[in-house]
Amino acid sequence: MMTIWELQSRAFILSSIAARRIIPLCAIGFAMAVLASVTSMSVAGAGQTKSTTAGHDPAEPLTRHVAPPHIPRVAGAIKRQNVSEKDLRLTVQQLVACGTRSSISSWSDPQRGIGCARDHIVTRFKSIARTSGGRLQVSEDRFQATSPRTFSKPAPLENVVALLPGTDPQLSKTVFVVSGHFDSMPSDVMDAKSDAPGADDDASGTAVSIECARLLARGSYRATLVFAAVSGEEQGLLGGKRLLEYLQEKGYQVGGFLDNDIVGADFAPGAPHRVRVFSGAGKIEDGDSPSRELARAVEEIDGRSAIRMIFRVDRLGRGGDHYPFVMAGLPAVRFTEPLENYHHEHQTPRTANGVVYGDLIQFLNFQFIGNVARDNAEALRELALAPAPPHNVEIRGGVSPDARVSWTADEDPERRGFEVLWRETTSPRWKVFEVVNQPGTAVLQTVSTDNHFFAVRSVGRNGARSLAVPAVIARRR
Ligand SMILES: [Zn+2]
Repeated sequence: MMTIWELQSRAFILSSIAARRIIPLCAIGFAMAVLASVTSMSVAGAGQTKSTTAGHDPAEPLTRHVAPPHIPRVAGAIKRQNVSEKDLRLTVQQLVACGTRSSISSWSDPQRGIGCARDHIVTRFKSIARTSGGRLQVSEDRFQATSPRTFSKPAPLENVVALLPGTDPQLSKTVFVVSGHFDSMPSDVMDAKSDAPGADDDASGTAVSIECARLLARGSYRATLVFAAVSGEEQGLLGGKRLLEYLQEKGYQVGGFLDNDIVGADFAPGAPHRVRVFSGAGKIEDGDSPSRELARAVEEIDGRSAIRMIFRVDRLGRGGDHYPFVMAGLPAVRFTEPLENYHHEHQTPRTANGVVYGDLIQFLNFQFIGNVARDNAEALRELALAPAPPHNVEIRGGVSPDARVSWTADEDPERRGFEVLWRETTSPRWKVFEVVNQPGTAVLQTVSTDNHFFAVRSVGRNGARSLAVPAVIARRR
């Protein structure tokens, strides 16, 4: 899909000082400048933008680079103390008390089966909706789906979707979604009768989604927020696939999907640890993808002490509800606890040879789940307050000394400008090279297009950043 190049003909000469030679006022000053350039190799994420000089490589940019202004992040971050571990525990207890939440168990028995869990979730979301002045809209999306795990026959399924409409006429068509799956399974996925407490997998993720709604429902955001609890995950990601269809049927664009699946336990010494955030690679040269950009954004929002980025789509050979979104080319990541105990997943509760099997609430760490809930809620908040990402982000400048990054963007009076990002090809994180006010072309003088990757993101007047959009090579015309 190529559009006619219609960039405004503004070219932004970045680091104009770099175009001139440094004129040392005195030998000491010059020596200090050189020293600063050579020692600035410790790169700590976006915001630090000095030279990436290391070892005996030439400095880039070749000449001095002026550090970009630091734009403070959006104010009003959600405080950890506002997360209710009591409410998280209540959700898990209510779901576990339904005995089994097999998607092929009863949807109508209020005491036992997956319908019991659905009832609790709807009640919780509706009670949160009352605190939002009725703005949070709670829907039960009933559908049918077929897979080998539904005996290859259509099975009745249901997702619960709580939607908080955005306030911006354009951005409200974009949704940022947090989701957990409320179905569970015993050892045999076709067994609808045995107990399947599913405290960790995935009452914990469902509790995170509900807690995010509680933390955010009274606020106003430019984009729309969706808090989802889906079924059919263990039967073949049926609820996740349906959720994507449901959002598309309603005309929404998915701006980011945060799947929380198995986020309840953190048993290793030293807990609480960081939560893992899985993101798959894309098709372009360096493996960047919308999901990878979402993972980077989450890490930058919540901090490296909270998020452990894992650059793979999921754990080996396993899957989750983010997968249908990833396959649709949308930004989608999976949150999962730092270390899993397989005796406590997909196991009918029992004790054998002194080992306790089963996904029981006693194995959960609510301090850890509280951290995960806070990190999800803050990521949703900042992303939903941000301007739209730029479009048509392209890189030119091969076989030339300068990198030329260009992009377009929709009109947005709430946007302050754009951050032009770069990174070493081996670095996992972006750094800010420069801040530019308008869409167009940025010339990064004496920066090699061969040794770096580039991206652009939008920044609001409020300091909220959009996802970064990696620059792809400009197509020849
Ligand atoms: Zn799961």
